[in-house]
Amino acid sequence: MPVATRAPATPRKRKTALLPTDPALTEKALAIHARLCPVYGCPIPYFHSLDPVSELVSSLLSHRTRNAESGRAFKALRARFPDWEAVIAAEVPEIEAAIAGVTWPELKAPRIRDVLRALRDRCGSLDLAFLADMEVEAARAWLQAIPGVGPKTSAAVLSFSTLRMPALPVDSHHHRVAQRLGLIGARVDVGPAHAILRAQLPADWSAQDIYDNHEILMLHGQQVCHHRKPACGRCVLVDLCPSARRPMREP
Ligand code: SF4
Repeated sequence: MPVATRAPATPRKRKTALLPTDPALTEKALAIHARLCPVYGCPIPYFHSLDPVSELVSSLLSHRTRNAESGRAFKALRARFPDWEAVIAAEVPEIEAAIAGVTWPELKAPRIRDVLRALRDRCGSLDLAFLADMEVEAARAWLQAIPGVGPKTSAAVLSFSTLRMPALPVDSHHHRVAQRLGLIGARVDVGPAHAILRAQLPADWSAQDIYDNHEILMLHGQQVCHHRKPACGRCVLVDLCPSARRPMREP
């Protein structure tokens, strides 16, 4: 029998406790934000309006997978199973067959089932609405206590779902651009980058502001600061970027 350990309701807090950060990096992060916002059209519409549990599943599917493929797999999962309880009760091969289009379906199928099961056992139900009443970092820590849920997934659940909380996800594009711009060191991995990059932004920024910051850095990585050949010649950040000076980076 699952034990209900639903987090106690606390007053809604949006201002989050952040790591100490270098004021020069905050200034640079704000300059980058101001430069990229007009390029990519802030405020950027949210691409999802899923409930938090569905967003959790969507995020687990999206790891190292193109958006179109993870979106198709999410729809296939919803079509194959009537609800998330049915996924918990399913055999792994059934889940794997539904999500066959994503990268590593053989790993993601048991992970999705196990995360959903752990969530239900921890809450007593499949409902994450209570996270809206928690401070962002506490809500992220709560989610990351579930095996299989990392920093990007916890931030995605809080930011992209209908919770609309000011958590900053960092994907591979966002991470690469932040490294090239010198916002994080070359050896800082994606996981630790979440707290460092969030701390460079104002603590009282709205969920939309934080979402925009993630989206513009991700879009810049997809459209200009490419993995192999960054298009520094048409980059609006060239005067702010230490990597632009390296000839090997030029197309
Ligand atoms: S100047 Fe070049 S390396 Fe720097 S952010 Fe722009 S595209 Fe990327």
